Amino acid sequence: MLNSLVILGASGSIGQSTLKVLRQNPGRWQVLALTAAHSVDTMLRDCLEFSPRFAVMVDERAACELAERLKTHGAATQVLSGADALCEVAAHPDAHSVMAAIVGAAGLAPTMAAVRAGKRILLANKEALVMSGAFFMEAVRHHGAELLPIDSEHNAIFQCLPEAIQRQPGFCDLAGAGISKILLTGSGGPFRYTDIGELTKVTPAQAVAHPNWSMGAKISVDSATMINKGLEYIEARWLFNAAPEQIQVVIHPQSVIHSMVQYKDGSVLAQLGNPDMCTPIAHALAYPGRIESGVEPLDFFSVGEFSFIRPDYERYPCLRLAMVACQEGQAATTSLNAANEEAVAAFLAERIGFMDIARVNETIMTALGRSAAGSLDDLIALDGMARAHAQQLIKELAR
Ligand code: NAD
Ligand code: MG
Repeated sequence: MLNSLVILGASGSIGQSTLKVLRQNPGRWQVLALTAAHSVDTMLRDCLEFSPRFAVMVDERAACELAERLKTHGAATQVLSGADALCEVAAHPDAHSVMAAIVGAAGLAPTMAAVRAGKRILLANKEALVMSGAFFMEAVRHHGAELLPIDSEHNAIFQCLPEAIQRQPGFCDLAGAGISKILLTGSGGPFRYTDIGELTKVTPAQAVAHPNWSMGAKISVDSATMINKGLEYIEARWLFNAAPEQIQVVIHPQSVIHSMVQYKDGSVLAQLGNPDMCTPIAHALAYPGRIESGVEPLDFFSVGEFSFIRPDYERYPCLRLAMVACQEGQAATTSLNAANEEAVAAFLAERIGFMDIARVNETIMTALGRSAAGSLDDLIALDGMARAHAQQLIKELAR
């Protein structure tokens, strides 16, 4: 069915914004499945509102609780549990589009299941693409899946590309289309003006308080270290078949320009809007049409002045690491991504300091960045190895 949607990671920030967009467009989409790790209250409320055929809880106890509570409400939603059930609903024959909004490498298997089933993939889960790169893109091509970027920058770039390229951006010839550069904008996060010497002392609460965007905890910390922009650099490399020298990071503190495409005739096309993920979500849901997103229209008389700053790699060592990883290749990006997930979790648990994140990332990438990366299985094994090494290092740093 053309309007049948699976939302992986429904209880998270992107999942909830997706449901917000659906509320703006009642009757237009049918939710086939909602999935979450363990947030029973949120899932119960959303299942009662959207009546999905399936609800998946990764955690078995949470699944039992959700099933019980849905039963008392007389709801017909079938509750499934476990990570395999995520893949089952993502590849379900009745699903047309799959919102891939699980955070981290945990999203790879279900997103790949949707790709292999030839679905329209609304890709928020950048870590899945960063850890699997060419394998992911080749599977998209081989299985005839359609990839629409949700990450606001990539969605903006997508909107600024010629229509012919939009149909298969991962295999396009940017230079052949007259494109000289992708300009990837980023706000610089909450610490862009903090003294570099003070960064060792910042707390998780300060790091997750993003000045312009409201997001999940992991990506908020990633924005503070700017590895988020680095992961997006790698994401852009794959989504748009861009060579590293065709991508430039530009700090734009206002977060109104969401990214730009520079053409060889001197034209620069940009996509602008208020910083709210409902806009890219609405764009991808309706593509090539346009629908209401519920986002306030941009008022140019109140946005003030725009500024642009060159990134400072002393302040943002993780951004440089990711750019180096992109040059080095798949093993480097996979090990960096895995190390970063472990380091961010340890920082959020107050086990290591903010600047230790870069230290863990660099050490693991240096140790494992040249490992075997000839198959998806190699990458999954490398992801596990990088996490084990990172956990060991975190233990030492936490002493
Ligand atoms: P979040 O932490 O708010 O939500 C994550 C979702 O994934 C939740 O539904 C959670 O239950 C589920 N989940 C977590 N661990 C899981 C596991 N092991 N197995 C299955 N499900 C699991 O995260 P978010 O901010 O919504 O981000 C989701 C993805 O979208 C990330 O990859 C992020 O980089 C990307 N993204 C987010 C934003 C944003 O504004 N939030 C913007 C651009 C890209
Ligand atoms: Mg982004």
